[in-house]
Amino acid sequence: MGEANRIELDAVIVGAGFAGMYMLHKLRGQGLNVRVIEAGSGVGGTWFWNRYPGARVDIESRDYGYSFDPELEREWRWSERYAAQPELLRYLNHVADRYDLRRDIQFETRVTAAHFDEAAARWTIETDRGDRLSARFCIMATGCLSEPKDIVFPGAEDFAGEVYRTFDYPEQGVDFTGKRVAVIGTGSSGLQTITAIAPECAHLTVFQRTPNYSVPANNHPLTADEQAEWDAEREAYRARAKAQPLAFWNEPTEALALEATPEERHREFERRWEFGGFRVGAPYADTGVNLEANRILADYAADKIRSIVRDPHVAERLTPRTYPFGTKRLCVDTGYYQVYNRDNVTLVDLRETPIERITADGIRTSERDHPVDAIVYALGFDAMTGTLAKLDIRGRDGLTLREKWAHGPVTYLGLMIAGFPNLFTITGPGSPSVLTNMVMSIEQHVEWIAAAIAWLDEHGKATIEATPQAEAEWVAHVAEVAHQTLYPLADSWYMGANVEGKPRVFLPYVGGFDAYVLACNDAAANDYRGFATG
Ligand code: NAP
Repeated sequence: MGEANRIELDAVIVGAGFAGMYMLHKLRGQGLNVRVIEAGSGVGGTWFWNRYPGARVDIESRDYGYSFDPELEREWRWSERYAAQPELLRYLNHVADRYDLRRDIQFETRVTAAHFDEAAARWTIETDRGDRLSARFCIMATGCLSEPKDIVFPGAEDFAGEVYRTFDYPEQGVDFTGKRVAVIGTGSSGLQTITAIAPECAHLTVFQRTPNYSVPANNHPLTADEQAEWDAEREAYRARAKAQPLAFWNEPTEALALEATPEERHREFERRWEFGGFRVGAPYADTGVNLEANRILADYAADKIRSIVRDPHVAERLTPRTYPFGTKRLCVDTGYYQVYNRDNVTLVDLRETPIERITADGIRTSERDHPVDAIVYALGFDAMTGTLAKLDIRGRDGLTLREKWAHGPVTYLGLMIAGFPNLFTITGPGSPSVLTNMVMSIEQHVEWIAAAIAWLDEHGKATIEATPQAEAEWVAHVAEVAHQTLYPLADSWYMGANVEGKPRVFLPYVGGFDAYVLACNDAAANDYRGFATG
């Protein structure tokens, strides 16, 4: 590519979801010349793409908005306790309008390569539209769950019916009236899709490989009183949430399940189940770290499934047996288990009868053919590393990120990578990210990165990068804290176990948002300790 159409910028941001939008706003506020490159035709990232029926955030709406501008918080009204995808997308579009973001976002363009030019200390970023951008900073706001897994079933291309993926579901929706529909995959996306479409279609067949634990959301429209309460306590609520390991209020406790009586435990489990959402998953301090304590919670959840699902065989198949409670991402639902009491819903357990192939008419398992008119794939993502590994990213001495991460991602604080100066990853592997309220984690990263850039300028420095030593220590720490929990016992996407050939490494940082923020702030306060600046 020639140099003629080369564009000089201070920073290129890849992705216009929650992270890229705020990063743009923040850096523009610091006087930088910035361009965002976004593959979609609009802002919103996750909430732009994942338009499948029933898509809904599963932490409370009041947690799931930016907190950086009190005015923005005051003027926006959520309609439900947990906002659905269309409302979240409206919110993000409102933010784009409010801060006039679109003029610096180039839509329908994919970054293909980012190479560091050591002599110039600049990144050259190329796109599938032939752009060649030169920037001092390259900031990956590419999301943690943005690279969908491939459809791997033999014969998938032979299917003559309709094919959808939850990841890029048609914007205008799909009318399943009178149709026989298959959903493959029972993670959060599958569960929400299944719950939403079961009442619409003639017959729904759910193909489940591993059952997930799911807890009720207890979603409802927000009343005027609740709105008023949220408004009144917003500042205090936000402050309290940001001091939590999850960056949202989860009613944390020091109490131990193993020290409580069965009656006390049952009361506590029930109280949380009634309230709904993620606090069901953390009723005691030991359920995430002690197998015996975890078993008690798992048994309670199994009882709940049995109490909802009328057919005991179906209930048993819906009950996870192969991993501790909460070690695969907990799902939060609105009537999921109840779906299996419907006459038009069938559960196929792929552990008993695996898929052999997709045929022109439907899905063939080892037992029989399941003829369907449409298949919805909800197979999940190559999480946290997939999107970045796909790009041609080269740092110092031509080192590719793919090579660097061949045995699992290595980063310092999930923010920077040794050998890749001035390349930042927002909520990258090794940061708390997906284990927390993503929006708070994103804000914290954006603010840290913006402050680091300002510091470089104040100190007349051109570059910053993680030192190999700080990076190695952080990677060891991320692994160490993960292994103090039960998480590594599950074949989850947290562990990279959902993608064939992916190194089995616990990807996010489980040490808590609060502890993590201290580590980030401490590095910054000590002249970016653990980072080399030059
Ligand atoms: P996921 O949790 O990884 O679920 C993928 C599902 O597809 C699993 O049930 C998996 O089974 C199944 N699957 C994958 N490959 C398969 C194969 N070859 N054959 C049969 N089954 C296969 O993906 P997701 O549901 O898209 O959710 C990903 C994450 O996105 C969530 O954990 C959550 O963090 C986020 N999310 C959040 C929300 C929300 O906030 N409400 C909604 C959706 C997603 P196995 O378990 O056996 O691998």
